Amino acid sequence: MRKSLTGYLGFPQILLLPFLFTAVFLDILFCIPLAGRALKWIWNIVLSVFHYLLGLIEWGFWLLGIRPVKKMRLGFLLFRDPEGNLLSNPDSMMRAVQNARTAFAQAGVEILPAFPPPKRLTEEGESPPSEHWYRILPYDSTRPLARVGCNLAAALQDLGIPGMYFQYHTLTNFFETGPRRLTGYGSPITVFAVPDIVDFGGCSLGWLTDYVTVQHNSLLTTAHELGHACGLGHREDTQNIMHPSSGRLREVTMTSWQIAVIRASRHVTRF
Ligand SMILES: [Zn+2]
Repeated sequence: MRKSLTGYLGFPQILLLPFLFTAVFLDILFCIPLAGRALKWIWNIVLSVFHYLLGLIEWGFWLLGIRPVKKMRLGFLLFRDPEGNLLSNPDSMMRAVQNARTAFAQAGVEILPAFPPPKRLTEEGESPPSEHWYRILPYDSTRPLARVGCNLAAALQDLGIPGMYFQYHTLTNFFETGPRRLTGYGSPITVFAVPDIVDFGGCSLGWLTDYVTVQHNSLLTTAHELGHACGLGHREDTQNIMHPSSGRLREVTMTSWQIAVIRASRHVTRF
């Protein structure tokens, strides 16, 4: 027998439906180049400021030794080449996940996959752990993202057609997490493993976006880019997570100020 949508959701999840519809509507609005993208920036800045103010209170608790584990959700979107071959190796992606998990554990943050568990998990037994962490984008829909920039170039691209595609892929691949992006509570971070970033191995626009880019063959920069996404800037200490070449290190350090900023980010929440 076919189950209705309400049958799947039940009560009280059904109460979330208005949030889901509003989130989808806004996610589509945010796809519009210039006006929609600029609105998304303003939306994210307001949410980030709100979370940082709450984070000040939480930081007081941290200093008193009350340090509950918080969660950050993450999902990779992998690209194909024109022949249809996968550009990034899922094993390298899992090393990047593991490095990021080790680094963020210092801040009492557990990194979890943003996607629901793969279907095969229940139908045919255990699937490879990497399948929890990524989706593969069709080649045709990723051509506008084949070569992206960083810093000012990335900001300008985010306001234009590439930004529309980043937003569209985030919306369609992370559909269930729309209400989190809408409220900013535990907004997941999308990692686009793009074919090429001019002059950089990875890039993040910090507060402005819900995604970071990493070059398809330097996925180990992911932890560093997540730091930027949480609002951190660069550091000169070569062992620190925010040193520009920290991707080469297996273990990185964080200062207590960096921990405070990470825990206050809209991407990092208790539930
Ligand atoms: Zn950086």
